Amino acid sequence: MDAIFAPEEGRLFARFPGAEERPGQRRMAELVWNAIADGDAATRRWKDSGSDPTQRPDAVVQAIEAGTGTGKSLGYLLPSLMAGRTPVLVATRTKQLQRQLLEEDLPRATGILDRPVKAVIAKGRANYLCKLAWEEIKAHPPSALTREDYALWSTLQTWAPTTEDGDRESLGRHGEGESELWDKINARAERCIGKQCAHYETCFLTVLRQELATADLIIANHALLLADRVLRESEFGGVLPDAPVLVLDEAHELEEALSSACAEVWTSRAMSLLYADLEAAALHPEAGALDALLPPWVEAWQNLLALVPLDLATWGLDSVDLPLAELGDAVARWIETGVPLLQELTSIAARDKEDPTWPKLGERLKTAFSRMEHIFAPEEGRVSTLQREGPHSVTFTSHPVDVRPLFHQHLRRGFETLVLTSATLRDGKGFNGLGLRLGLTKEEVAAAEHVESPFDFENQGLLFVPPGLPERRPGANGVGTPEWVEGSLDAMVRLVRASKGRALLLFTSRKMLAAFRPRLESACPELTFFVQGEGFGRQALVERFRQTPMAVLLGLASFWQGVDLPGDALSLVVITALPFAPPDDPVLAARIRQANEVREGLGFVGIQVPQMTLKLKQGLGRLIRTRSDRGVVAIMDPRLLLPHEDPSGKRYAAQVRASLPPFPIVRDWVRVEEFLRTL
Ligand code: SF4
Repeated sequence: MDAIFAPEEGRLFARFPGAEERPGQRRMAELVWNAIADGDAATRRWKDSGSDPTQRPDAVVQAIEAGTGTGKSLGYLLPSLMAGRTPVLVATRTKQLQRQLLEEDLPRATGILDRPVKAVIAKGRANYLCKLAWEEIKAHPPSALTREDYALWSTLQTWAPTTEDGDRESLGRHGEGESELWDKINARAERCIGKQCAHYETCFLTVLRQELATADLIIANHALLLADRVLRESEFGGVLPDAPVLVLDEAHELEEALSSACAEVWTSRAMSLLYADLEAAALHPEAGALDALLPPWVEAWQNLLALVPLDLATWGLDSVDLPLAELGDAVARWIETGVPLLQELTSIAARDKEDPTWPKLGERLKTAFSRMEHIFAPEEGRVSTLQREGPHSVTFTSHPVDVRPLFHQHLRRGFETLVLTSATLRDGKGFNGLGLRLGLTKEEVAAAEHVESPFDFENQGLLFVPPGLPERRPGANGVGTPEWVEGSLDAMVRLVRASKGRALLLFTSRKMLAAFRPRLESACPELTFFVQGEGFGRQALVERFRQTPMAVLLGLASFWQGVDLPGDALSLVVITALPFAPPDDPVLAARIRQANEVREGLGFVGIQVPQMTLKLKQGLGRLIRTRSDRGVVAIMDPRLLLPHEDPSGKRYAAQVRASLPPFPIVRDWVRVEEFLRTL
C-alpha cells in the first residue's frame, strides 16, 4: 500500500497535494488488501487441487470498524480495485452512500489509480420497466387511476418507448414512491417468464446483466444483494454476476437485512398485485371460469383482514390481542376458496400450452398459500408477526430467529473475500457481539479490527447528561413519566436556546416526538422547527435545515444514521432516550429467548444492550463530521451514567460508554452553556 499511501510520494498525495494523512485509512486498506490476497490464495489452492465443489473454501471474512472521518470508502475501494479480483461488489444500506461512492469516491479512486474503472449501479428488479407488462397494459389500458398514476400514465407514453435503461429513477417526480400503476409494469421476479418472453433479448434486465458482467465495480444495496443471493438458484431470478470480492458497507444492520431477505412475507399489497394480474388474465379468451372464481376468494381475504385489530401495531402469534383460532380458520377458508382457482389455472395451462402466463400465475398462487401456511404454523426456529400498517394494509411475516446459518449460506459461501465494515460494528465488548449475531468464527472475531478516527473527540465536543433528571420510564402514555417529560423539556429548551438552534433532536418514537414538538415550538418561538416526515423528503429536509439560521430538526429512527451535517449547521445533538428496541417486539423476544437458552442472562446484556449501543453510537456520530467540527451531545437519559454517578445510573453503562467516542462527560450547566456559546 506504500505506492498509494506513503507520505508525499504515494499516489494519493501526488494526485491530491495537501491531502491529510489518515493512518486509519491506510490501515484499513492494508487489511482489505491482505484479506483479498488470502481469499485469492485459498481459491488458487482449491483450483490446483481439482476444484471439488464440496471442498470450495469459504470466504475470508475481515470485519473493520472505521471511525467517522477515516475515509473508509477509499480505504476499501483502492485496495480492492488494485488487487484485480474483479468484479468487486460493494453493497451499501442506503442510496445516499451509493451516490457518494459513484459521484465522489470513485472519481477520486480512478484519479489515484490513474486508470478507468467501469462501475455499474444495480438496483432491485422492481426499479425497471418490464417490456412485456408495458405491452400488455397498452393493449388493455387501466380503467381507473389515481391522480398521481394518471400523470404517470401520461409520462409513460413518451418515456417507455424511448428509455434506454428502463430505470424508474429517470421518471423524475414519478421516480420513487408507491404506485399501483408502476407495480403493474415493473420487472419483479414473480411475474417474469424469463427466456420464454419475446422481449428477453432486449429486456432491460438482460442488458443490465450484460453490463454487470463486464463491470470492474458493482454497487448494490443490501436488500438487492441478499434477495439476489436467495434467488440465484431460480431460473431467472438473480441479476448480479459471480464476484470474488464482496465489501459490505454499513454492515451494522446486516443481521436485520439477512432476516428480512430470508423472511417469508405475504402482504395486502402482494394480494392486490396478484389479484390485479388474475383479473387481467380473466379477460383472456382462454380464461374459462377464472372470472367467476375470483370474488369468493377476494371476499375470504377481506374477512381474514377484518380479524386483524385496527391499531397500527405488530403482534406475535401468541398475542392475546389476536383471535388466533378465527384467524387460522379464515386463512384455511381463503386457501380453500383459492384451490378451485389453482385448478382452473392448471386446466387453462393444459389447453393453452404456448402461454407461460398460466403456470406462472399458478406458481404465484401456490407461493401465497404456502407462505400463509408457514406464517400461521411456524417451523421451529422461526417466529411469525402480523403488522397492521393502515385500514387496508396488513403484513404477515415469518422471520428467521437465528441468522447465523443464513450468513454462512448466502455470504460466507460463494465469495473469496468478504469485508464487513461500518463506523459502528463494536459494542462495549468489542467484536464479540457481531461475532455472536452473525456466527463469525473465533479467528474471524480475533482478526476484526477497529481503525481510529482522526478526530480529537476529547477536545471537539462534550457529552452532557442534565443533572437531576429522573430515570426515563415509558409511563402511562408510552412517552415518559410526567417528571421525566417536564425535566427533559426544560433541558431541551435551555440547550436549543444556548446553541441558537443548529440542533438535531433524535426521538425513539413517533409518540414521543408528537408529545414534545408543540411544547418546544411554543417555548422557543424564535427558532424554526423542521420535522421528519412532514412535507419534504429526507435530503430536502436536511438541506432546508442546513440553510435556515436558528433551526432545529426533529428526527425519528432513520435520522439516527446517515444525516451528514458538517460545519456550523450542527452544534447540538439531543438524544431523548437510550434507543432500546421495544421489549415487546416479538422477533427480539424470540432472539432473547434463544440466547437465554444458550447462556443464562445473555439476552439483555448480550443482545439488547449491544443493539442499543450501536444505535446510540450512530446517533452520536451525527455531531462531529470533520476535524474542525465542535459541539455537544446531550442525553436525556441518566441510565448512561454509572450507579455511583447518579441514582438512576446502571452497571451496563460502563459497557456502553466503552465503545462511544471519548467525549468528556459533563453534568454542569454552566460549562455546557458556555461551550455552546463559543461555537
Ligand atoms: S424478460 Fe421478464 S422482465 Fe424482461 S420484459 Fe420479459 S417478462 Fe418482463
